Amino acid sequence: MSQQGYVATPPFSQAPPGMGGFHGPGGPNQQQHHLYGHYGGQPQGFAVPPTGLKAPVSSAPGMPPPSVSNQYAPNVQQNGAHPQRYPAYGHPPQSQFQSMTSQAPPPAQQLTNQMSAMNLGNYAPGPMQSPPPPASPATQHPLQNPPPPAMGPHSPQMSALMTPPQSPPTGPPMAGPPMAGPPMAGPPMAGPPMAGPPMAGHQMAGPPMAGPPMAGPPMAGPPMAGPPMARGPMAGPQMTGAPMAGPPMAGDPMAGMGRPFPGPSPPGAGGFQQPGPAPAGYPQQLGQFGGQMGGPQPGYPGAFPGAAAQMAGPPQKKLDPDSIPSTTQVIEDDQAKRGGQVYTTNLRGQVPPLVTTDFTVQDQGNASPRFMRCTTYSLPCTADLAKQCQVPLAAIIKPFANVPKNETPLCVVNHGETGPIRCNRCKAYMCPYMQFIDGGRRYQCGFCSCVNEVPAFYFQHLDHMGRRVDFYERPELSLGSYEFSATLDYCKNNKPASPPAYIFMMDVSYTNIKSGLVNLLCGELKTLLERLPREGGAESSSVRVGFVTYNKILHFYNVKSALAQPQMMVVSDTAEMFVPLLDGFLVDYQDSRAVIHNLLDQIPDMFADTNESETVFVPVIQAGVEALKAAECSGKLFIFHSSMPTAEAPGKLRNRDDRKLVNTDKEKTLFQPLKGVYEQLSKECVLQGCSVDLFLFPNQFVDLATMADVPSHTGGSVYKYNNFQVETDGQHLLRDLRKDVEKNIGFDAIMRVRTSTGFRATDFFGAVHMNNTTDVEMAAVDCDKAVTVELKHDDALSEEAGALIQCALLYTTLGGQRRLRIHNLSLNCVLQLSELYKSCDTDALANFFAKSAYRAILSQPLKSVREILVNQTAHMLACYRKHCASPSAASQLILPDAMKVFPVYMNSLMKTAPLVGSAELQTDERAHLRLAVMAMGVEDTQLLLYPRLIPLHNMAAGEEEAAPVRCSEERLSEGGAFLLENGQSMFLWLGQAVPPDLVQDLFNLPSLAHLQTPLSVLPELDNPQSQRVRALIGSLLLKRPNSMKLQIVRQKDKPEVLFRQFLVEDKGLHGGASYMDFLCYVHREIRQLLT
Ligand SMILES: [Zn+2]
Repeated sequence: MSQQGYVATPPFSQAPPGMGGFHGPGGPNQQQHHLYGHYGGQPQGFAVPPTGLKAPVSSAPGMPPPSVSNQYAPNVQQNGAHPQRYPAYGHPPQSQFQSMTSQAPPPAQQLTNQMSAMNLGNYAPGPMQSPPPPASPATQHPLQNPPPPAMGPHSPQMSALMTPPQSPPTGPPMAGPPMAGPPMAGPPMAGPPMAGPPMAGHQMAGPPMAGPPMAGPPMAGPPMAGPPMARGPMAGPQMTGAPMAGPPMAGDPMAGMGRPFPGPSPPGAGGFQQPGPAPAGYPQQLGQFGGQMGGPQPGYPGAFPGAAAQMAGPPQKKLDPDSIPSTTQVIEDDQAKRGGQVYTTNLRGQVPPLVTTDFTVQDQGNASPRFMRCTTYSLPCTADLAKQCQVPLAAIIKPFANVPKNETPLCVVNHGETGPIRCNRCKAYMCPYMQFIDGGRRYQCGFCSCVNEVPAFYFQHLDHMGRRVDFYERPELSLGSYEFSATLDYCKNNKPASPPAYIFMMDVSYTNIKSGLVNLLCGELKTLLERLPREGGAESSSVRVGFVTYNKILHFYNVKSALAQPQMMVVSDTAEMFVPLLDGFLVDYQDSRAVIHNLLDQIPDMFADTNESETVFVPVIQAGVEALKAAECSGKLFIFHSSMPTAEAPGKLRNRDDRKLVNTDKEKTLFQPLKGVYEQLSKECVLQGCSVDLFLFPNQFVDLATMADVPSHTGGSVYKYNNFQVETDGQHLLRDLRKDVEKNIGFDAIMRVRTSTGFRATDFFGAVHMNNTTDVEMAAVDCDKAVTVELKHDDALSEEAGALIQCALLYTTLGGQRRLRIHNLSLNCVLQLSELYKSCDTDALANFFAKSAYRAILSQPLKSVREILVNQTAHMLACYRKHCASPSAASQLILPDAMKVFPVYMNSLMKTAPLVGSAELQTDERAHLRLAVMAMGVEDTQLLLYPRLIPLHNMAAGEEEAAPVRCSEERLSEGGAFLLENGQSMFLWLGQAVPPDLVQDLFNLPSLAHLQTPLSVLPELDNPQSQRVRALIGSLLLKRPNSMKLQIVRQKDKPEVLFRQFLVEDKGLHGGASYMDFLCYVHREIRQLLT
């Protein structure tokens, strides 16, 4: 297949590589005010290095100063500016957001040094934060001088995960020549490695650039000290149009830009400078990365790809936003190419369709991509190659993923009393990668090569292919995913497991009573409990239920079926929590239905007159764990909580929100949970298999980072409803609750990822608990939770053998059975990096980067984390350019086909609330998103980072849903209506000039002016337009793991800013570059890396 590199020649590429954007040598404080520099923005972004400042320590002599990427500096003005400068539609977004600050990542040379160590996987306070070693000439060729490996020590021999009975090999001595078996010939393995001819002509998709290559000196120069930029934030207009079009674009003026530090830059070099001095150190406002990009360049023809014209120099025209890689196009193309098809998993290293594509999976020996996706399906053979390209190697595993009805559910295999068959040495479970030899009497493990005896009961003859004749009858020999019944050895204390219990724990303090929440919940539970999840095929649910209410004391309820009335027992000593009753607390719902309904009817009345506003929290969880402990079962707590627990009790919290910490080195503390009792409680919960789902209804700061600590270590979820009101949020909450209660889920889970020789799992990201370095413990794991597993080399991998991953999840089913769920995946191993890039999964990469960055902000300044993201993006793409693309003009931006839209995801990631250091964002909000993402699978991070923006106004009668458009203001139209959703939020945006017909159809109102906002539901109107839109919203709500509250916003209304922050191709409202500017910057970085 022809792997076409994405070739483009953005006009900005002509600009010479001045790394001008890096100014402001000096201490951090000074930097804060200098940083505006943008991503290197060449023309206009040259800050005046304040005189008298010394080069920062982290820079070697002659090196550029360290990065000043503090784009989210405190005095950002964009927020204010934005709404006022509401742009006319149809103009490129850049022109309207002049005041944006942007990032100025580190200068390339430093970057080069950093890159060596800055694999995201290496986030760590230690070595990663130390300054890079002094630059040496070698840094000019970073790609050729990979840094010393960052690999950890070799892993010790893995210990057995679940202490199964070990059957030492006792078989007869090997008859026949040892190991004479053929190489693994099973179907899954049969796929030839994808070893196409290297790179044959694939990279050049466009005509070579006709323009002269950029003649500027290397980009590595220090920041350009241009004349001070006098422009204030509002100076937008200058940025647009004309100045852009001049000679700078043609290349030559820029030639001077790359010179070493701080000479004054030639006036007008970028076409942006304004005459007139600016106060020293005044932040450069310009926001744009590349100057030219900043303004609309009207009519710029065919900017990307190819277009030779622009290189020639004549007036630069507007850069066509359509010319940069489009996520919506990529999604549509994949859907057109692979949508509706059956994806059979019979080939090693096969790249699945995108997560956004609808396809059907047929398991033929490898796990479905619904269960496991990888950042690349072709691992580099050596650690050196891996370091060279910096493409993270990771698998994103969603062990409980929902399987669509038209796909086969997992088979359960029972190997009887001996339990599942496993390799004696590495403990891998029987799977398609075990090679039977010696007439079927023995098998060689595909993971560790150990030769094992086949137990007598499992013996089977081999066919002429060397395959067992029962191959197709045994899921564990022919499928990628299946389950084993586990024996007592896999159960806690060797006792059979019990079905889990669900405990509903309601905060009945004043706030929750007043808001109507308690009443709503009690009403809902009566129907919800009828829908408790069941083990496949079971008539009723085995899940037992229990009820607690609390404020600063706890009330337990005896709801034994024999009782006529429920009984309440109060525990007011919350210091030493205990459960006052055992019998009658956890009951079968069907048996105790009448008593439970009675209780649910009474609760709202019992507390109707409460004045209690204080709550406890930790004792509530403790009570839940104690109850499960007493019942010897696992389970889940559903906690409905209103406020920060301030009552005198363990886990009491105080308001520690301090947004002054934003953009300081202490910002990380805002994300760090308090230790102590919370940490201890997480461990207790995991030990008991007690998962905690927290439904929060805060009216102010509640220290979510700490309160969500237990849920986020126990496979739980956190839902948050600010200023909850039944009328506007009730349905939203109930949708979440229903989904949550009904979810497919496993309890008391422990996961182990085994790999074939040569590499191993080194790090794990998810709502999990790790007691050691290999066992991933999850009190529960549901269908939406994913664990991202980073992989690293131990040794060289072979192209022939490929690489194998086996994920084994031991858990308790809803019916109380102990099971092992196995997912196997085989990958290719390649010596050609081009093969690796061809097999990349951009969505999986985005997932990995999101999780690793979100973890990193617990220990590193956000600024460094963002820098690493940018640098690694540039590095990955530069390596592709260097090793995989055919020679072409440096001015061309060449992206691997499979990673065409990778930059847009990375840029969007940096603009998400946790990473965007802005004091305007609520701390709890940021912490909440951070924790949610840590547990997300690839579908969810994809949608979060690139929301769907669906035009509604053209949905002609009977027409299918319109294709989503790019997330940019430019795609909106005043006469339109758009639906935007990202899995967390949903908006219906109405343009100012939206046709009255549409308003009438959707709202039954004569015009937009009559619309009363906020509105969170569409009225049910009997007309096709209304029906279609509501059906669309309904289907989206059904598909996503969480409910979303519909927010209806009118163009130019104040709440519109909430909507705009999701237009991820535009500049961020709270900081962060537009997609185009980011691409410019990355391109420039790439060129620097290549010089
Ligand atoms: Zn083995």
